[in-house]
Amino acid sequence: MAKEMGSRLGTGEILFTEMQARMITVLVPYDQLSRTHGAMAKAQPSTHQILMIESSSMLSSRTWHAQRLFLLLSASEHFAVELETEGFTVHRVRASSLRAGIQEFRTAHPGQEIIATQPRSRKLQSVFDELRIDVFIDDSFLTTREQFASWAAGRKSLTQEHFYRWQRNRLGYLMQGSTPLGDVWNLDNENRLPPPKSGYQWPTPPTFEADDIDRSMLDRLSNSEYSLWGSPADETWATTRAGALQQLSWFLANSLAGFGPYEDAMPKETWSAHHSMLSPYLNLGLINPQEVCDAAIERFNQGDVPLASIEGFIRQIIGWREYINGVYWLFPAQYEQSNSLAAHRPLLPLFEDPAATKMACMKSTVSDIEQRGWAHHIPRLMLLSNLALLSGVDPQEFLGWMRRVFIDAADWVMVPNVIGMGLHADSGTMMTKPYIAGGAYIKRMGQFCGDCQYKPALRVGDQACPFTTLYWDFLDRHQSDFAGNHRMVQQFSGLRKLNNLEEVKTRAQEVLSGLSDGTV
Ligand SMILES: Cc1cc2nc3c(=O)[nH]c(=O)nc-3n(C[C@H](O)[C@H](O)[C@H](O)COP(=O)(O)OP(=O)(O)OC[C@H]3O[C@@H](n4cnc5c(N)ncnc54)[C@H](O)[C@@H]3O)c2cc1C
Ligand code: SF4
Repeated sequence: MAKEMGSRLGTGEILFTEMQARMITVLVPYDQLSRTHGAMAKAQPSTHQILMIESSSMLSSRTWHAQRLFLLLSASEHFAVELETEGFTVHRVRASSLRAGIQEFRTAHPGQEIIATQPRSRKLQSVFDELRIDVFIDDSFLTTREQFASWAAGRKSLTQEHFYRWQRNRLGYLMQGSTPLGDVWNLDNENRLPPPKSGYQWPTPPTFEADDIDRSMLDRLSNSEYSLWGSPADETWATTRAGALQQLSWFLANSLAGFGPYEDAMPKETWSAHHSMLSPYLNLGLINPQEVCDAAIERFNQGDVPLASIEGFIRQIIGWREYINGVYWLFPAQYEQSNSLAAHRPLLPLFEDPAATKMACMKSTVSDIEQRGWAHHIPRLMLLSNLALLSGVDPQEFLGWMRRVFIDAADWVMVPNVIGMGLHADSGTMMTKPYIAGGAYIKRMGQFCGDCQYKPALRVGDQACPFTTLYWDFLDRHQSDFAGNHRMVQQFSGLRKLNNLEEVKTRAQEVLSGLSDGTV
């Protein structure tokens, strides 16, 4: 078809319209802004046109973090403009929903073939199925859904570490033949340092100046009636592929070397520690995991990045990120509704308002999220999720909150991370034991406790750390749920040794009601 059209080009407007009618339309959702992957890989302005749909129900259905909505809108508009500069016709459709937008486009352009890349949420998948949109494999992930399913087939447990080794072998990162570089697969034992006491120079992340498109999106949002939460967009996040690449270069030059040792640390003087802050760009398609890993390996080959740092970083991408995507598509749609620990407490007020808690660690973390929509994986897991799990917050309410406030939130990544990893709401399908900890862990890995009115070592009394009290109370409440879990033997043996369990349980009730009314 392209050849036939090429020979008739330039013969007038009627032919141009006819040509558009014969063009293939690529539907580009706002989280697939990649020119080189999926349905966009072979698209050319002479044969393809672009359809981008802004769904008003997506914009107005929830109270989004202002920066998250800004990033989605501004990054997709930048992408549309880049495609226009390349010569593509871009149809921007505003509709009540993505489904309605596709239907409106079809009514206005009858007979058009619409293609897309495999969508990144089950909800969109069902719209594509219903409207018979042809999809291309989402090859911006390093592992297809079929490859993951075949890895998982017949396994008793879906241990991430096993998947990670399979990935290392298959993709060849940090391998010498079939042996891992340095003869060790995983150097996490070297990667659990607490923050240095003082005098450490943390890297300062780059900032990104707003351009005209950013400014017009900021105006639009500030004059809109959307319900927004958090600080308005500043210069923290880039909205283009060029910005994402700049963030990657900065990370490789300034932060990768220290990534490993301080990966789990929660220091006070920096909001970003040695993390890459690449997740929003990876999740929007502005950069892809392969180029990130290739560039990190190239940087490692220069010789001054420790093996523990490069191994830890590569594991996050080819291990965790790919694993999470794999399990999202492997598990049934109902997985998202799991609530195996029967947790029904409404979302705690402190998640919406950091002034609604006296816990220094939670106040600081939720304030950071309010400011930038981001926290690294340990605050997400060992503070936010830990507190929600220990206090029995409804998993779906907590999932809804995280989806609204994180800059990098996406269905495929939030659902397994929250339901499986954070809240253990899936009967242990994903993780063999819950990630729970009392104040001692937070004291060791963070620098909050010195400024807190609670004491991490205390489990009873007015000054008891809520994490410490609730940790023991949780174990007591859920003894039968974890009976027979050999990985929790030590924790339950600690519980049996407590000499004041009744007092702990009484204090836990006070803490729980204080958390629910925003006074703890
Ligand atoms: C409860 C919970 C919710 C989370 N929700 C999200 C989310 O909505 N979006 C998101 O991208 N990540 C999520 N994560 C994973 C992780 O916290 C973030 O990817 C990471 O903090 C992003 O910051 P970074 O880019 O600096 O990551 P780095 O620490 O620099 O790590 C590099 C990359 O590894 C990948 N990665 C690492 N861990 C994970 C993981 N568990 N799942 C998926 N990718 C991972 C990310 O792409 C990240 O950019 C969640 C983790 C938890 C425990
Ligand atoms: S004492 Fe407890 S609540 Fe306070 S900062 Fe430490 S861990 Fe958090």
